[in-house]
Amino acid sequence: MSDLTQNMQLIPPGHGVGLQLKRGEQLRLIDPHGGQSGDLIAFSHDGTQRLSNGRTFDYNGKIYLSTGDVLWSDRSNPMLTIVTDEVGRHDFLYSPCSVEMYRIQYGVTGYHANCYDNLCSAMRELGLEPEPLPTAFNFFMNVEIEASGRLIIAPPKSRAGDSITLRAEMDLAIALSACPASTCNSGGATGPLAFEML
Ligand SMILES: [Zn+2]
Repeated sequence: MSDLTQNMQLIPPGHGVGLQLKRGEQLRLIDPHGGQSGDLIAFSHDGTQRLSNGRTFDYNGKIYLSTGDVLWSDRSNPMLTIVTDEVGRHDFLYSPCSVEMYRIQYGVTGYHANCYDNLCSAMRELGLEPEPLPTAFNFFMNVEIEASGRLIIAPPKSRAGDSITLRAEMDLAIALSACPASTCNSGGATGPLAFEML
């Protein structure tokens, strides 16, 4: 666990935010209360390259990413390096939650706050067209993989104040969402996230 600082900005529960990161700058993502996961999408600043879980699996040879690992673009360039990680478990398999997902999996009728819309809105505010949206890096989301291949969504391992820090390897547009899916966030009400640029 690390201290919360004055530069930290809060992402309210179920909301998203967009930001720009210059090459060499670092982004620290914080779980203020613990047990909350979020989604991160990164595009090159001009929108020509997008975060790719497939390319990231290619070059890391694994699906659980942590300190020292690099997140790659769909054009096979490094986008972000994980420089510190106090949690050690993140997901890069699941698509961002969406209105359709809440309807199909949980029978929700009408609108439900969701990461897909949050991430798209944040990218559009940065002047980039996000769709079709790639798979997000689901920081703090804890997915166990059984030997059969079955996926189990478990509570995040993040404790209050835990964080992960990523360094930009190119100029980036980034969208973040504090996921409103209770199944991914220890059940019950979902919480905020926070971030700071270093
Ligand atoms: Zn979500």
